Amino acid sequence: IWGQACGQLEQEVGANNYNLWIKPLRLVDLKDGNAEFAAPTRFLSDWVNRHFAQAILAELDRLGHRAERLRFHVRPVGSSDAAAPRQPRSDRSADTAAASLQVERSADLGAPLDPRFTFENFVVGKPNELAHAAARRVGEGGPVSFNPLFLYGGVGLGKTHLMHAIAREYIDRHPDHRVLYLSAEQFMYRFVQALKEKTVMDFKEMFRTVNLLMVDDVHFIAGKNSTQEEFFHTFNALVDQGKQIVISADRAPGEIKGLEERIKSRLSCGLLADLHPTTYELRLGILQAKTEAFRSQYPGLEIAPGVLEFLAHRITSNVRVLEGALQRLFAFASLIGREITLDMTQECLTDILRASDRRVSIEEIQRKVAEHYNIRLADLIGPKRVRTVARPRQIAMYLSKQLTNRSLPEIGRRFGGRDHTTIMHGVKKIEELAGSDEGLSEDIDLLKRLLEA
Ligand code: ADP
Ligand code: MG
Repeated sequence: IWGQACGQLEQEVGANNYNLWIKPLRLVDLKDGNAEFAAPTRFLSDWVNRHFAQAILAELDRLGHRAERLRFHVRPVGSSDAAAPRQPRSDRSADTAAASLQVERSADLGAPLDPRFTFENFVVGKPNELAHAAARRVGEGGPVSFNPLFLYGGVGLGKTHLMHAIAREYIDRHPDHRVLYLSAEQFMYRFVQALKEKTVMDFKEMFRTVNLLMVDDVHFIAGKNSTQEEFFHTFNALVDQGKQIVISADRAPGEIKGLEERIKSRLSCGLLADLHPTTYELRLGILQAKTEAFRSQYPGLEIAPGVLEFLAHRITSNVRVLEGALQRLFAFASLIGREITLDMTQECLTDILRASDRRVSIEEIQRKVAEHYNIRLADLIGPKRVRTVARPRQIAMYLSKQLTNRSLPEIGRRFGGRDHTTIMHGVKKIEELAGSDEGLSEDIDLLKRLLEA
């Protein structure tokens, strides 16, 4: 019956929780209202009792074995007489690791995975192509080919989405492996707690016995020295064992202020995959995919031509905002039972549209570009033709075209009354160069990010 129960429990608590906590258990007896288990460690049994007792009792009940409570016999793995069939060897290191753990009073060790964040739901385009391909590779869980995978990019560009997708895929393919996904903030929290409770050794062991460790938003630990230190050691220990690590941050390792040099260089050792700011095509693709998904949620709702294009054009920063806008639009339209039109879109999303308009002005672009290239604003706009000024000027033109919805003649006027063909030439030039000049395209990305932050 335990085998049967396990199948259902795995569904209920998720594969990862199941592997971490329930799989190492063995049911030894059911009597006097007690469901008795052999557990490899005190820690594990406390944990299970606290978090999964209800689920386990309910499942046993469903199978016709009513019990009131769980009881545990703690017995180190290896001394057990017969290994349970559902307990593969690869769990051993984990179990012995947990063996010395005392009671821990935190919530889950890892963070839960969002069921919507899958590879299927991730729309791939030029800006996220490399990050996506690398994430897929890690998700397959083959031999480690780069370590760590370092995903970085601005807010709302899909870092967390990709990490959850990796975890999910990896767990599917390697059900007996241990996967730990958590934010850097949670990592710190756990660590500080372990310090307080004097369980640091156990904390270390716990982290060092996973097959795949994923730490989201690692920039959070910048400036937090003891956490950085601990992170560094955890990181090294896993890399030495050939275990895969995936890290995300809002910028490249070298650009994270307050992060120790040795950590920066360690983080840069694997594959750095940049999630670039979205393009119009990607935004439109995402909107189309989300619309498909919403259709089943709001059957019969029509959406007028041009609405998605309008949104992709106007909301340029953050996919989360884009999604939120679409969600609100659908909810609104279904409430009043009308087709989604452009007028309705503008009315319903006034605040969001205004916020994304306000985001970047041509003046801001000019200021940032001048600052970035260390030239005077007056020169950027003025007539000088030397390359050190002309190139940044073209970049500013390009960004003005990309990030605002001003027309070419309008942009021309802001650049000291230049003709719209001059602007067009500038934009084309940069597009061309950015295709072949990596340094330039990185500069542009950085500027975009600074402007849209
Ligand atoms: P980040 O962690 O980079 O701040 P998230 O991964 O949380 O961003 O993404 C924000 C939202 O945008 C999520 O709901 C995510 O599903 C969605 N999203 C981002 N990029 C894509 C994409 N390429 N395809 C589909 N959804 C995306
Ligand atoms: Mg995130």
